[in-house]
Amino acid sequence: MRVIPSVCTFCGVGCGIGLRVQDGRVIGVEPQPRHPVSQGQLCAKGWATSFAIDAAKRLTEPLIKEHGQFRRASWDEALARVAEAFRTALEEAGPQSVGVISCARASNEDNYAAQKFARAVLGTHNIDHCARICHSPSVAGLALTLGSGAMTNSIADIDEAELILVIGADVTENHAMIGARILRAQARGATLIVVDPRKTRLARLANIHLQLRLGSNIALLNGLLQIILANGWENRAFLEARCADIQPLRRHLAELSPELSSALTGIGVAELEQVAYLYSHARSAYTAYGMGITQFQSGTNNVIAVSNLALACGQVGRPGTGINPLRGQNNVQGACDMGCLPNVYPGYQDAADAAVQAKFATAWGRPAPAHPGLTSLGMTQAALDGALRALMIMGEEPVLTDPDQGHVARALAALDFLVVVELSLTETAKLADVVLPAASFAEKHGTFTNCERRVQRVRQAIAAPGEARCDWQILGELAARLGYPGMAWSDAEAVFDEMAGLTPIYSAMSYPALDHRHGLQWPCDADHPQGSPLLHAQGFPRGRARLLPVTQVEPDECPDADYPFAFTTHRLHFHYGGGSMTRQSPLLERETPAALLFMHPDDGARLGLRDQQAVAVRSRRGRLETRVHLTDDVPPGTLAMPYHFREAPCNRLTNAAQDPQSKMPELKACAVAVEPLPLAARPAGATDHASL
Ligand code: SF4
Repeated sequence: MRVIPSVCTFCGVGCGIGLRVQDGRVIGVEPQPRHPVSQGQLCAKGWATSFAIDAAKRLTEPLIKEHGQFRRASWDEALARVAEAFRTALEEAGPQSVGVISCARASNEDNYAAQKFARAVLGTHNIDHCARICHSPSVAGLALTLGSGAMTNSIADIDEAELILVIGADVTENHAMIGARILRAQARGATLIVVDPRKTRLARLANIHLQLRLGSNIALLNGLLQIILANGWENRAFLEARCADIQPLRRHLAELSPELSSALTGIGVAELEQVAYLYSHARSAYTAYGMGITQFQSGTNNVIAVSNLALACGQVGRPGTGINPLRGQNNVQGACDMGCLPNVYPGYQDAADAAVQAKFATAWGRPAPAHPGLTSLGMTQAALDGALRALMIMGEEPVLTDPDQGHVARALAALDFLVVVELSLTETAKLADVVLPAASFAEKHGTFTNCERRVQRVRQAIAAPGEARCDWQILGELAARLGYPGMAWSDAEAVFDEMAGLTPIYSAMSYPALDHRHGLQWPCDADHPQGSPLLHAQGFPRGRARLLPVTQVEPDECPDADYPFAFTTHRLHFHYGGGSMTRQSPLLERETPAALLFMHPDDGARLGLRDQQAVAVRSRRGRLETRVHLTDDVPPGTLAMPYHFREAPCNRLTNAAQDPQSKMPELKACAVAVEPLPLAARPAGATDHASL
């Protein structure tokens, strides 16, 4: 048996694993003992990695759909079909009629190739990925306040924090090894404050849990800052030395009072004052947040409110402090870094900047696309409008993870042509005209970038099943068929080297440099050849940081007589994303085999429901059937549901109302109604889960 060092393929923590390989198969995993992030540990998902890539459920050959049925095809026939479809769309409707949705689970090399394929081969900025629905508001909001949208500090800084503030993040479930680190920090004396409308596991263990009303994040953060400023608890030296004028924000907040903030959030005045005092007086306060901040139509302003609080208290730019968005997927940070966003080239180089356009046009030998690009949800709408004709989706599952599932399915059906590059036949792949089999992370060389900006190597441990190929190879072959020879890389390292040569924040990185230690954190350039564990110690990318006035915005859809419950979505420790990988594991599937609707017992009693009873849930967009789980995890009047389960896809219910700045849909809040189903009813696809 050999053990090949690699990185966990699930969440953005980026734990170090060893793939145990025997007879050409990954038979298990083990933690890397001295890994700086995971420190010799893994969560339940990490231990189950080998099931996610098991060859039994994998696609091994290209598939072409004819008369509604898939048939096997050769690579030559499938790639010819894809190239012909893109060529036809380009000739008939121009480069705005085609697009690519890349993948936050794929490597940096695959994502670099995806955006180069879109821009240099198809001639469009229509390139996006699932960061749109997780942390696009972080990229937009922190760019406005600090000039950089990534985690400011490292995961290890949790060990140095005197106070840890977690807002809208279910850390023990979704970023388990960070959750464990936070609990160890609390055990050695750090104060843990959790802000969440649900009683998460971390909230139950926290020193203080602020169980705010769903969607009242800005009211809470503004309320805390108003108390801090009114009492003179702000860090004046930091504000004078490092920030632009705070006066507009001070005047804006003067309209508030603790009593008004309490009324808006449902949190008592005494608790607000206690948290304001503790946060502003902590020697080091580490702020971490998740999609409970970003997935609102006010997502960008929510992020700005987090930033305002940290800046006003000087809790940025030192060890143990910082503004730290917890990125969801294993390489969502990398996919953003690689420029798989319509408005930026690799390294966040502005796609609208003429000098940047000229730089890439020269390097790639193709002119920059003429038009601004569409986001993933913009492409969905363009497909429905008939403006988008051909689309490539690499390894993403928008049918399960995007809001308003019916809307997404109608949009994909409206395309002239859909090609999906995937490991297995997902719900999205089933809708494709052509499906191309992809190699998994264990079957190729490459790099992933975790949420603390750490770029780490993954190495080929086994051969890909059947004829599956790396995404960058597939894209290179398609590029050649479309007349562009500039993507014929010899190997993954050649892709990385081309990218690093064009991306200043990665410019001092190379495979040998990354091999030398457990990766490097960007910016890693001539001034920082060892990388940058801490950002903004001396200055901000935009010079002085900005504190921007923001105002509470209610969710687009609030409960009413027809839809009386507030509804939110969440994730479970044992599953990940649309479940296409974790649900391959019998161990994980045994723990939580079916979707449940989390409801407070008081609401259950009012509706005459008993625990585990079958119910129908309706919103203005769709209906599903599931079982109810009576628990005080949620407050009365608020329901929650995990989104991993195709049998009860909660995004059939969610609202596509968007944040005007980042185009983030409001996945965290909508209104629903619940009806009991007959006692004998068993929801479609339901599994017996008496163990719950
Ligand atoms: Fe994998 Fe995330 Fe668990 Fe670490 S915390 S083992 S990266 S799923």
